[in-house]
Amino acid sequence: MCLVSNRHRYRAVGELKRAVLIIQRCKLIDENTLYVFDIDETLMVYDGIDRKWWKKKMVENNENESLVLEEWLKQIANHEPKHTHASSFNTFLENVNKNNIVCLTARKGSLQNITEQHLSQIGVKDIPVYYSYGSCKGKILKEIIIPNYPTINNIVFVDDNKNNISSVNKAFYNENIKVQCYYFVHNL
Ligand SMILES: [Mg+2]
Repeated sequence: MCLVSNRHRYRAVGELKRAVLIIQRCKLIDENTLYVFDIDETLMVYDGIDRKWWKKKMVENNENESLVLEEWLKQIANHEPKHTHASSFNTFLENVNKNNIVCLTARKGSLQNITEQHLSQIGVKDIPVYYSYGSCKGKILKEIIIPNYPTINNIVFVDDNKNNISSVNKAFYNENIKVQCYYFVHNL
């Protein structure tokens, strides 16, 4: 587990639509920008399975994350995911180089099949998905993803978890790559 500071700057956005509009307004859309989207509670949601559900289940299972993960997996296998804001995301896709968009999730890599299946159900296809379970998103982004995009000098990072935002800000502190983070709050 990585320790991260919460002192880094980010913008809070209540809807994916707003995040996409802000990104467009800031003229960050260019060939040298990589767009990184979290999946759960950012791009898609499952009815009734949100952060409150996780908190409740962690308490019920004495903070045993493996048990909660097992239960979560059973739950999502029986739920249809919903896009948090399909129309704005699709508009966004039409305006950017699709080769410069990735998903970065804290899910385990072993969940690749169900993750890609659910993304496909909400219409998110042909976007590479990276899995950061057991590590910090900032570390995975810097060490695993960015080497695949050698011309990138801007990163737009959208996530509903402040720890992930902090870890990304921290990983690129003092780097030549500029990071713009958006803290996505569902139902803000
Ligand atoms: Mg999330």
